[in-house]
Amino acid sequence: MKTIGLIGGMSWESSDLYYRIINKKTQALLGGVHSCDCLLYSVDFAEVARLQHQGRWDLLSERMVSAAHRLELGGAEMIILCTNTMHKVAADIEGSINVPFLHIVDATAEEIQKKSYRKLGLLATKFSMEDDFLRSRYKDRFNIETIVPDDKGREDVHRIIYEELVKGTITDKSKQRFLEVIDSLVQSGAEAIIAGCTEIELLIKPGDISVDLFQTTKIHAEKAVEIALGR
Ligand code: GLU
Repeated sequence: MKTIGLIGGMSWESSDLYYRIINKKTQALLGGVHSCDCLLYSVDFAEVARLQHQGRWDLLSERMVSAAHRLELGGAEMIILCTNTMHKVAADIEGSINVPFLHIVDATAEEIQKKSYRKLGLLATKFSMEDDFLRSRYKDRFNIETIVPDDKGREDVHRIIYEELVKGTITDKSKQRFLEVIDSLVQSGAEAIIAGCTEIELLIKPGDISVDLFQTTKIHAEKAVEIALGR
């Protein structure tokens, strides 16, 4: 098995999910008491969130590239970045390492294509919903159109992510608000929903909604294991 390097801590609540999923998937594929050969480089999210909201993507890029280098030096044979938002600097990371990088959009789009969906609702941070770095990759490489909530919907989803989900706070009120936003995306023609932030699957489960839910954390983590095992 290739050693998987995870750039995590954004937030640690979702890195916790990644760690569980990669180990469960490894055990499911190899059986017995097998578990995942991996390295986790976990950052202080307070610093990352501050720099994001200050628009200092240059400094964030340096941080992510440095984390990737440390993982590679430590023996990682492939690298994943355990957050959708920080994929804004994915090209910088990919261009500076000598091992494969599995992009979260590529992993997710492959699953969406298996179901032939063309138009999906994207729930994510405002950075991911309002910038083009995820949406254009879905569109240009996979011909998948993404639609996003209205201003108020984007505001609420972003606030719930940064004030609650990254701290592991799960409330019925926020879940109801997410379900309302999902409903309006479905009314607007979304055939399915992308949980495009790695903490959303802590709040919304596939059985909670009437359309398919693509969980980027689960899909990304499981795909990494399949690649690490050459499956
Ligand atoms: N984990 C979230 C994501 O997937 C948000 C936290 C972050 O900004 O990295 O976008």
